[in-house]
Amino acid sequence: KHQLPRPTRRRIMTVANQKGGVGKTTSAVNLAAGLALSGLKTLVIDLDPQGNASTALNVDHRSGTPSVYETLLGEVSVAEAAAMSEQSPNLLCVPATIDLAGAEIELVSMGSREARLKEALSEEALAELDVDYVFIDCPPSLGLLTVNAMVAAHEVLIPIQCEYYALEGLGQLLSNIDLVQQHLNRALTVSTILLTMYDGRTKLADQVTQEVRNHFGDVVLKTIIPRSVKVSEAPGYGQTVLAYDPGSRGAMCYLDAARELAERGARKDDQ
Ligand code: ADP
Ligand code: MG
Repeated sequence: KHQLPRPTRRRIMTVANQKGGVGKTTSAVNLAAGLALSGLKTLVIDLDPQGNASTALNVDHRSGTPSVYETLLGEVSVAEAAAMSEQSPNLLCVPATIDLAGAEIELVSMGSREARLKEALSEEALAELDVDYVFIDCPPSLGLLTVNAMVAAHEVLIPIQCEYYALEGLGQLLSNIDLVQQHLNRALTVSTILLTMYDGRTKLADQVTQEVRNHFGDVVLKTIIPRSVKVSEAPGYGQTVLAYDPGSRGAMCYLDAARELAERGARKDDQ
């Protein structure tokens, strides 16, 4: 079992990309599982009304369950809403219920509408849970929920699919991050890009990989997540791929990516 360095400061990472199906949820839950396996306490915040991260971690998310929705309203603390995954006592999840679907609209008329999640993820609240890492799994849009995630986080992790049109829309995402940096969260950085669903049989995958590396340099993790049937099957069993098939290439790659993330962070903190 690999033990990874604890970050000197808790890391809150928003997993964002307004495109659907690029691997946001898959990356959030599997990176979290990788860190948890390595002994780091990790919390996944499911901020997508679809509740895919909750499903993947097999955490109850029927309507009425204390969820991220109630934490945004300030009715419930994250510690109260956080459920332990079956996989590991180190892996927690604040689920999303269908109630979250209305939040995008309801938030508009609320006070400090962009900072509701930041308030919920206060230092005290997270200290109570004693988590080292928080991953916020965003919905596929740049609306108020994603803005809340960007305001609450220190870092943005962008998953990019190694496919045609992968870079389309990225400019819009980056300019939104820029706006958040200017007006709402100066400390936010795009710290990590993760290439996902790489298919080595296609030339295109290599072209996209090269293009992303040329453009973003070492923000891009060395580890690339391959397209793998095991990765896509795991959520159907309420498991991350690390639990579903720990020996599979998908599981190994997510574990490697988690290690890289943790070791890079530790290095940065040391400077
Ligand atoms: P997003 O959260 O960005 O919408 P998901 O993580 O839900 O994207 O992934 C979209 C679909 O692709 C899901 O069905 C998921 O199981 C599948 N998928 C994600 N990563 C991989 C992978 N590396 N190999 C195969 N299928 C994947
Ligand atoms: Mg998703």
